[in-house]
Amino acid sequence: MPTLDETVACVIVEPVAANMNLVAPVAGFLQGLRDECDRVGALLIFDEVITGFRLAFGGAEEYFGVTPDLWCFGKVIGGGLPVGAFGGSAKVLSSLAPLGPVYQAGTLSGNPLATAAGAKVLSLVSPVDYTDLTKKVEDFASGLRYAIESAGLFAVVPTEGPLLGLYLSREETATPTNFDEAKVLCDNGLYRPFFHEMLAQGIALAPGAYEILFVSMAHTEDNFTRTIECAVRAAQAAARS
Ligand SMILES: *Cc1c(COP(=O)(O)O)cnc(C)c1O
Repeated sequence: MPTLDETVACVIVEPVAANMNLVAPVAGFLQGLRDECDRVGALLIFDEVITGFRLAFGGAEEYFGVTPDLWCFGKVIGGGLPVGAFGGSAKVLSSLAPLGPVYQAGTLSGNPLATAAGAKVLSLVSPVDYTDLTKKVEDFASGLRYAIESAGLFAVVPTEGPLLGLYLSREETATPTNFDEAKVLCDNGLYRPFFHEMLAQGIALAPGAYEILFVSMAHTEDNFTRTIECAVRAAQAAARS
């Protein structure tokens, strides 16, 4: 665990790194950051643009039981409309104008259309059964792994709640726990032929090995089955590459 000193104003982190494929925090990492920030008086900021309302209704805070001082949200909370949001403790937010000295404003801040869409999204996700979604994702992950390994490759398909990563490898390999380990797997050239063969079969995955897979409540059993079937041929293409 790195130590901080009093020159550090804040630590901003994705609680589950989902922009380097999927790298989950090792046990105690987030609590360690919380403790270190408290020790030196720094703010802990969670970038929950991806994890918010996806790991759990209460996001990473609920999922890991670690409370940051500030949160940022975006993308999914707007249901397709352009929106971003941030939140935090009353103590921190009272620094913002007009209550406090920190100026915050923007042309589209509080835009009625985007905020209406956001309010609707929140009402739709609050009853979502995240346990059920997680189970679907875990089953899908084992299916994908099995399909890819049937073609002679190895697959690391980590899940964290409903978040799903996918690394392809020619050798058996451990689940990455940091960016350096993730980078080796993302840059090994196997994802490109895999992606293109999936696309040729009608399955549009993210067009880069650093992205993750987003499973939603709208996905059906048929969607999972078909994706797994297509993954066999895609993995064969990657193995030949
Ligand atoms: C997309 C993304 C952002 C940037 O969000 P913008 O609304 O485009 O500024 C920040 N953090 C994470 C984790 C993201 O995935």
